[in-house]
Amino acid sequence: FAKEQGRGRYHLFDAEQNRQMQAHRQTVSRISRAISAGEFVLHYQPKVDMREGRVVGAEALIRWAHPKRGLLPPAAFLPAVDDGDLAIPLGEWVIGDAMRQLSEWLRQGLQIKVSINISGAHLQQQDFAAHLEQHLRNHPEVPASLIELELLETTALDDVSKVSEIITQCRALGVSVSLDDFGTGYSSLTYLKQLPADTLKIDRSFVRDMLSDADDLTIVEGIVGLSRAFRRQVIAEGVESEDHGKLLLRVGCHLGQGYGIARPMPAEALPEWIRSYRQPVAWQQVSDMPWL
Ligand code: C2E
Ligand code: MG
Ligand code: MG
Ligand code: MG
Repeated sequence: FAKEQGRGRYHLFDAEQNRQMQAHRQTVSRISRAISAGEFVLHYQPKVDMREGRVVGAEALIRWAHPKRGLLPPAAFLPAVDDGDLAIPLGEWVIGDAMRQLSEWLRQGLQIKVSINISGAHLQQQDFAAHLEQHLRNHPEVPASLIELELLETTALDDVSKVSEIITQCRALGVSVSLDDFGTGYSSLTYLKQLPADTLKIDRSFVRDMLSDADDLTIVEGIVGLSRAFRRQVIAEGVESEDHGKLLLRVGCHLGQGYGIARPMPAEALPEWIRSYRQPVAWQQVSDMPWL
């Protein structure tokens, strides 16, 4: 009897596993159709220099305009994509569409740096840099200096020497590279020395809590110090309030991005947002302090 029951459970488990695999396959084929059907869109979130009140760039953030479920955030579909067969086609679509958009902005007279998020699987495919070069050739009007790649710091830790080689190839094309969610990957000083990235992007969890948690403030200050020591740029994500910006300016981080500055918006809305952007007076006052 026990054996029977055991076998029965085994069958049940099998059926559940089977159901999950089938659901995953369905999701993957649905996403694959969505790419061909043009259902993905990029929204853009500005990055500003909080000292000067100047817009320095915009990050492309993917959304799925699902015909039935509405606009879906990356968390709703990227987990089914990452590390799978779709990571590359979707990632290539993102690069192509961001360049198309930048090309359109340039035609309108808007010069802005565009940051593109790159997944680990996509970055480590064969010839990532050669594909990137092809995108740049498709858009000769887009200077490579206006393109930045955001790589998760954790991606870099997969295989530091391979990733640093790819970063070097991309930088040779003229694009810049930022380490996203910096501080979450426990990067040692040795790793940072090996990774020729231009910018460290402080993870928003530290920024969010630095006003109330002394340890988080210490981490933020530590990353700013690292960026100075290694001569990298530093930017904070998750600037949700004026107070976040004030404190960041005090500890020497001048670049910021977050809901307190602007939420991600459709590409069409960005030029008007830039024209009407005014930096908070409090940030101006901090920046005017002579000892900063
Ligand atoms: P990320 O690259 O670290 O992007 C920042 C995320 O934080 C975005 O969420 C943004 O909307 C959100 N955010 C910005 N400012 C604030 C703030 O002040 N407070 C809070 N609470 N959140 C803020 P989103 O758009 O949902 O993207 C989530 C993640 O999905 C991104 O994190 C990135 O890792 C990934 N992702 C987005 N677009 C792409 C893409 O085109 N390709 C790839 N491979 N990954 C992408
Ligand atoms: Mg990012
Ligand atoms: Mg980030
Ligand atoms: Mg993040």
